[in-house]
Amino acid sequence: MVWQLATVRAVRQETPRVKTITLELPGWSPHRPGQHYDIRLTAPDGYQAQRSYSIASEPERVGEIDLTVEWIENGEVSSYLHDVVALDDRLEVRGPIGGYFVWTAEMGGPLLLVGGGSGVVPLMAMLRHRAAVGSSVPARLLYSSRTPEDVIYAAELERLSRQPGGVEVFHTLTRSQPPGWKGYARRIDRAMLAEVLQPLGMQAQAFICGPTLLVENVADHLVQLGLPPSNIRTERFGPTGGPS
Ligand SMILES: Cc1cc2nc3c(=O)[nH]c(=O)nc-3n(C[C@H](O)[C@H](O)[C@H](O)COP(=O)(O)OP(=O)(O)OC[C@H]3O[C@@H](n4cnc5c(N)ncnc54)[C@H](O)[C@@H]3O)c2cc1C
Repeated sequence: MVWQLATVRAVRQETPRVKTITLELPGWSPHRPGQHYDIRLTAPDGYQAQRSYSIASEPERVGEIDLTVEWIENGEVSSYLHDVVALDDRLEVRGPIGGYFVWTAEMGGPLLLVGGGSGVVPLMAMLRHRAAVGSSVPARLLYSSRTPEDVIYAAELERLSRQPGGVEVFHTLTRSQPPGWKGYARRIDRAMLAEVLQPLGMQAQAFICGPTLLVENVADHLVQLGLPPSNIRTERFGPTGGPS
């Protein structure tokens, strides 16, 4: 897979800790929702750092991709992408990468998407693709964030959920909730998963993404609830213990 020089065409603040960077790619090729790109940074002394970022946009958008990056304290690459990268900058990237954690409309469903924090990014690519092609595959998203301010793509998720046959979105806010909050207010647990999974049934295809601990817990719970392991795909973003 070859490295190419992408140009930064837009930078959007999603939440206080999360930005979306739009990259124009000279060697664009359509991805499958769930895939990622690698970004490689090179310092003047030749030192290199490389990290993976899921594609947030749908493959129907030609010539460019969105990457959504969470700022990590002391993070080598994420802090550079947040604090240094500006419009028209060039970034070395390669992709699309990954063939396991992917969903396209022809794969069918029903679809159970479970994300924690920035783990919602590849799930958003799936939902944007689902909407772009007018898929009627039943889809539910269970999305864990710490506070209302940390919910990435909040307005777009709301819009997608209001479309006829749109995705059903279930938020859980683990640290603070707005007055009158009627959604979940705890870490994802088995009872919560049972409620969200139930109408989809045991044919559901599950995609789980986020911090390692969240992903492992959710996958274990889904197996305990009776979902066949072969219906469960996981993507781990990093070492933290999850939104809490
Ligand atoms: C397939 C794949 C797709 C990914 N997609 C995305 C994405 O769409 N958006 C996104 O923001 N990230 C994504 N990540 C995570 C990303 O690749 C980096 O790991 C993350 O940005 C941290 O890199 P860094 O160089 O800033 O931090 P580092 O310099 O590597 O680490 C700094 C410190 O932060 C800790 N740390 C590392 N990663 C995380 C993390 N994820 N959460 C909390 N603490 C961490 C480290 O243990 C260390 O203590 C993805 C990872 C994988 C494997």
